[in-house]
Amino acid sequence: MHSSVQWDVIIVGAGPIGLSTAWHYAKENNHHKILVLDQYSLLTQLVGTSGEERHWRLQYSELEIFRLTLEADKLWRELERQADRKLIHRIGSLWFGDADVWTNEGQIRQTMVSMDAMDLPYERLTMQDIERRYGFVGLDPNYEGFIQHDGGVIDVKGTLSTLYSLASEAGATFRFQQPISAIEPDDNGVTVIASDQQYRARKVLIASGPGSKALLAPLNIELALSTFEMACISMLRSQRLEARDPFWFAFQPPVSSDSNLFYGFPPNPWSVNGFDRLGTDFEVDPITEEHGASYCANPQHVERALEFARRHMPFLEPDRQHSASSCLAVLPNDSSRQFYLDNAKGRCHGGENLVISAGGWAFKFTPLMGKICADLLADRQPRWDISALRF
Ligand SMILES: Cc1cc2nc3c(=O)[nH]c(=O)nc-3n(C[C@H](O)[C@H](O)[C@H](O)COP(=O)(O)OP(=O)(O)OC[C@H]3O[C@@H](n4cnc5c(N)ncnc54)[C@H](O)[C@@H]3O)c2cc1C
Repeated sequence: MHSSVQWDVIIVGAGPIGLSTAWHYAKENNHHKILVLDQYSLLTQLVGTSGEERHWRLQYSELEIFRLTLEADKLWRELERQADRKLIHRIGSLWFGDADVWTNEGQIRQTMVSMDAMDLPYERLTMQDIERRYGFVGLDPNYEGFIQHDGGVIDVKGTLSTLYSLASEAGATFRFQQPISAIEPDDNGVTVIASDQQYRARKVLIASGPGSKALLAPLNIELALSTFEMACISMLRSQRLEARDPFWFAFQPPVSSDSNLFYGFPPNPWSVNGFDRLGTDFEVDPITEEHGASYCANPQHVERALEFARRHMPFLEPDRQHSASSCLAVLPNDSSRQFYLDNAKGRCHGGENLVISAGGWAFKFTPLMGKICADLLADRQPRWDISALRF
């Protein structure tokens, strides 16, 4: 069945990027009809944006991405002003470990070089400083790191609900429980096919997280992305430290079983239960057609995180009480890439009517990527240099 409405823009995916795009596009194109479709409900825990928090950081190893975080920072502040609520809690971003290890988060040494080049202040720390200040123990004494005080933690649900309200107020329409099975672009627009309906728009944004690859494959657009189910473990603190602790990320050389990367959030400023959260950043066992998401954390990964806490974080009580969940991370296979965000012009028939945003640690770019997608949907040159994102 064909919907009788012709939409100006359809956005497939009500995650942070889809919501932010809906808001920016609706704000800047007053009389346009904008429809956001999602297979699940708002705040679903089944795709790439589950959980309570995400790491906010300005520092990047790659200068072209670093510049974009500085732009994103301005837009987060604008969003907070607009919504009259705090979304980023600037508790600091602590990186430590083997300064020469390259990871999907970058490298400590190169990031310090980049922070110097960008004049971003940070405090360089020895492992002894880190143990004394933040309570870690038993880490390699040759590890080093830094704290960047503008970094911190983003309130995920606060951001999503804020963007949903702003986009709705600006006139965007939402339909949930609408799984999209195909996208068919042509010279005049795009047909979007759901199970019991077809929609038609002049332009479409695919911001479907782990679902993007399947929608793009029939158009012969192959993005080199893999999806990993990553574990996140909540555990209690035995000691409450005086000062607010920062977000931390441990850069370690890979081991035979996994990439050996852990990160953690102290009890977040907006929660009531006081749990720390530890995450594993393991790029192992990518999700395939044969091996789908299980939607529960891999027990071995949970055990690895508990072991990290037992050995290095004496202020936690991993064995008293913990709970684990999982989240789908969509990451570029090429470690020198961070994201894919572009118009699909020249990539398939009607590609000029399609915009794609997929992959990477993208939550921190939510307001910026929304604005870039809105520009591309309006056939405008984005206001920022996005050559590092294009494909
Ligand atoms: C464990 C973990 C930790 C992370 N940590 C950080 C971090 O610290 N900092 C950071 O910046 N980023 C981080 N990220 C990445 C960040 O969370 C994601 O990049 C971001 O949330 C993705 O947003 P999105 O809007 O692109 O996609 P998603 O949030 O995945 O949303 C896509 C939406 O599309 C819908 N959809 C998919 N397919 C279809 C379909 N066929 N039909 C209809 N709807 C569909 C889905 O239901 C979903 O609502 C992390 C990710 C994970 C998993």
